[in-house]
Formats: sequence, C-alpha cells, structure tokens
Amino acid sequence: MLYIWLSTVLMNMISAVSAYGQTDSKTYTLTEIQKYGVRLLVNKNYLLPQGYAPDGLVVTNGKVRTEFANTQLLPEVLKALESMFAAAKAEEIDLILFAGFRSEQTQRLFYERAGGGNSMSVAPPRGSEHETGYAADILAVDSMIRNSSFGETKAGMWLQKNAPQYGFILRYPENKTNVTGYIYEPWHFRYIGRELAYEITETGLCYEEFLQLYPDQKVPTK
Ligand SMILES: [Zn+2]
Repeated sequence: MLYIWLSTVLMNMISAVSAYGQTDSKTYTLTEIQKYGVRLLVNKNYLLPQGYAPDGLVVTNGKVRTEFANTQLLPEVLKALESMFAAAKAEEIDLILFAGFRSEQTQRLFYERAGGGNSMSVAPPRGSEHETGYAADILAVDSMIRNSSFGETKAGMWLQKNAPQYGFILRYPENKTNVTGYIYEPWHFRYIGRELAYEITETGLCYEEFLQLYPDQKVPTK
C-alpha cells in the first residue's frame, strides 16, 4: 500500500524531470561519470559526452554465451553475468547475451536505421545505457527474439526474479513506458550492484523514479 501511494506521489513529483518527452537535456562531464559510477543515469535526457567509451572494457569469455563475437562489458558486469548464466544453466535455462557495450557510432547507426526522432525502442547516440558498459541484452537460446513475449517465457521470468541477486535491474518495465520513454524490454538489464538492484526492484519503481527518492545523493543535477 505504501508503495502504491509512494508511486503515485512520485509520478507527480517527477513529471518535471521525466525522461520522456522533455526537450532540455544534460551532458555529463567525465568527472560526473566517475562520481556517479555504477549509479549513472543515462537516458534520452541524461547524455554521455561525445566520443565517450568507458575505460577497462573486457571481452566476454566462454562462460557467457554470446550471439556476437567480441562482445564487451565492464569487468564487474561480466563477472556478475557469469554467475547469473551459471545459475540459470543449473535450472536448465540457457541464457544468451545479445548485446553489451555499444560505441556511440554503432548506437548512431542503430538510431538512424530506426528512423531517429523520439524512438520508443532505440536510444539516441550518447543516450544509450549500452554505451556505459553496464547494460546487457539477455535472451534465451530457445527464445531469441527481442519482443515483449520474452517476459512470459521461462527464461524471461527467471531473469525478472533472479537478476537483482546478481546486481541487475530490469531497466524498462512494462508499466513504466511513460517515465522511461521506452517500450517494455524484458531482455534489457542494467548492472547497478546487488544492494541497489534489490532496493530498486523492491520498490517497484523504474530507475528514473527511484532516483527521485534521494535527490541529494543520487540524482545527477542538471
Ligand atoms: Zn538493451
């Protein structure tokens, strides 16, 4: 009940800083990126600086099955994925990583191919979490299509339940499209560390909403 109330209050409170439909935007400095670290909010309004790529990216190894060779992620993300994939495998769920880090150039290509504009499914260049090295698109070997029905598969449900234990949040939940600006993406997970992942998931809020709970400490200010 408290959460329902909180959500309602927050929805009103954050309308001014909602990620969706807002025209002004902020570009992070490298200092800010360092400061926020794993908590960095990246969306259509909170953008990475031009040409940004995180330091220390690593290539996935055999422990994490990937659709594409040489998929890169930050080391802590890869480590968490290895544990999560192994745990899923133990329950006969074969996960497969479809995307990790994406460069600004690649993101621009995807965005332009999708027609640009305020796309609900493809982020603008400098506005994709994939450009931070913290995001992972995860599907199952027997269900490799990125659409909303993945959320109802055994793998999709397993991920929703277990991802926080490995430090991941479902970044674009089904009922938060008006806040995140993106369609429901049951395959897109964002590494944020175990403690925060639990906390965010428990509130039932999306990350934009959650950050509003701690405006002083956690919301990057414009
Ligand atoms: Zn994604």
